[in-house]
Amino acid sequence: CSLLAASFPSQTFFSSQGTYQDQQSTYYSASQASLTPTCRVSPKGPSDVAKILAMATQDENRCQFAVRTGGHMAWSGASNIGKEGFTIDLQELVLEDGQARVRLSEDKAAVSFSAGVRWRDVYRVLKPENLTTVGGRIGDVGVGGFLLGGDYILNYEIVLFNGTIINANGSSHSDLYWALKLGSTNYGIVTRFDMVTYPQGPVWGGSQFFSIHDAPVLLNHLVAFTKNFDKDPKAFFGLSLAWNPQAKDYIIWTLQTYLKPVPYPSPLWDDLRDSTAKPLIDMMGIKNLVDVTEEFKEADPGKHGRSRWLSMTYKPDVKFHLDLHAKGVELFEPYHDHPGVHWAVSIQPIPKKFSGASSVQKRGENPSCLKQETGDLWVMVITTDWLDPADDKVMNTNAETLLEWAEDEARKRGLFHPFIYPNYASGSQSVMERSTSPEALRKMGVISRMYDPKGVLNELWRGGFKISRRGELEGWVYDRVEL
Ligand SMILES: Cc1cc2nc3c(=O)[nH]c(=O)nc-3n(C[C@H](O)[C@H](O)[C@H](O)COP(=O)(O)OP(=O)(O)OC[C@H]3O[C@@H](n4cnc5c(N)ncnc54)[C@H](O)[C@@H]3O)c2cc1C
Repeated sequence: CSLLAASFPSQTFFSSQGTYQDQQSTYYSASQASLTPTCRVSPKGPSDVAKILAMATQDENRCQFAVRTGGHMAWSGASNIGKEGFTIDLQELVLEDGQARVRLSEDKAAVSFSAGVRWRDVYRVLKPENLTTVGGRIGDVGVGGFLLGGDYILNYEIVLFNGTIINANGSSHSDLYWALKLGSTNYGIVTRFDMVTYPQGPVWGGSQFFSIHDAPVLLNHLVAFTKNFDKDPKAFFGLSLAWNPQAKDYIIWTLQTYLKPVPYPSPLWDDLRDSTAKPLIDMMGIKNLVDVTEEFKEADPGKHGRSRWLSMTYKPDVKFHLDLHAKGVELFEPYHDHPGVHWAVSIQPIPKKFSGASSVQKRGENPSCLKQETGDLWVMVITTDWLDPADDKVMNTNAETLLEWAEDEARKRGLFHPFIYPNYASGSQSVMERSTSPEALRKMGVISRMYDPKGVLNELWRGGFKISRRGELEGWVYDRVEL
């Protein structure tokens, strides 16, 4: 930190300084904010990131560090670190020309943004042009963490372990481009993303809250919705069975969007429009997508608590999700009167059309084990929040027990799928091993060795999901033509 303070005197912050405290206080989860790095440094552009990374990884320094964008990954240590290291906070990062943080191409077909922005910053530039891109449902989520757990990128500008800045895309460093789609913290710090834009006018979207007694109706709706998605892929429907500490009752929170200004479009919403399940609170309406993402943020009950999220994937099944909720009730109900305790089991569909979407839409392959042949799936996330550090142990243990139960039971019922969606997972989960095929994982390991031969990032960069670099690479030969 003293070296950083010498090189970046106005961009390095210590715990007594307001900027350090502000950055710490804007993590989504108090489990992350309670870690206190020796210092925090705010690079302003890719060349600052390059200099910082080169300093940290030099043999004579070898400093541990974490990297943070929106700070929304919930588990402790995902994007923050304790006294043993420092945190690179990308929130002040601008594009290489030093002018803008988000820039639309002249033909408006692509948008480039610094890795330091949040989705709302991108949507606000696209909205006046009636455009959008594929991003987070909540405007507050950072682009950095979000996009290193998914697909849809045209180009990554990335700083490698030694400070070299390169661009990875379909024609340059295409092996790295492939790996970065599930790259997490293995390859380098991304400083800019380029993405395709799509025309987007007003949408029908928002939230509806239902009584917990309507769970079977809504889950049956989600089964049909997932199956029918092929007929009209402009739709999203996700739901949470949640404990609501304010009302002291269970509730169902649904997030719904249709990318046209049409309420209850047919055929995906047919059953819900005519259903006996009527929302207790109805916030659906014709809106701009930006407003929908801001509303979702306001409705989210978890912010600022200590948090633990865990995720798994299974085949759509109403009874399984009801049983999972019942198991959660058994585990968490004894703690409902503890400060700020909130938990939910949420699902969102991965229709088979999505699993095969990458190759269908010519964005190239990705390392994930999701394939169209797998059929329809649901990604499930257990979210837990609480306020008292004294509850850390019991809340973490209960969340893990619930996941263990779900995985065992899904296997027994023939519903289990190994994929773990990185954006919803916890550091304790084997995300890389489970979400790729053995061959893809080996290839990711080889690519990491090519771009970081000594595994410096694996050793020094804390947080994210790491690729194991040892045994599995033995005897593996992968033809690489670049670098
Ligand atoms: C309220 C809420 C709503 C959410 N909604 C969605 C959703 O709709 N869809 C979805 O898919 N996910 C969603 N998520 C999950 C979210 O996408 C992930 O937690 C994501 O990692 C957050 O990105 P971030 O930049 O805010 O997080 P951070 O905590 O800043 O970073 C997350 C990880 O990415 C790494 N990282 C960050 N920036 C970079 C970079 N530039 N280069 C390399 N590594 C980097 C960090 O080191 C860390 O390991 C949501 C999370 C929350 C809390």
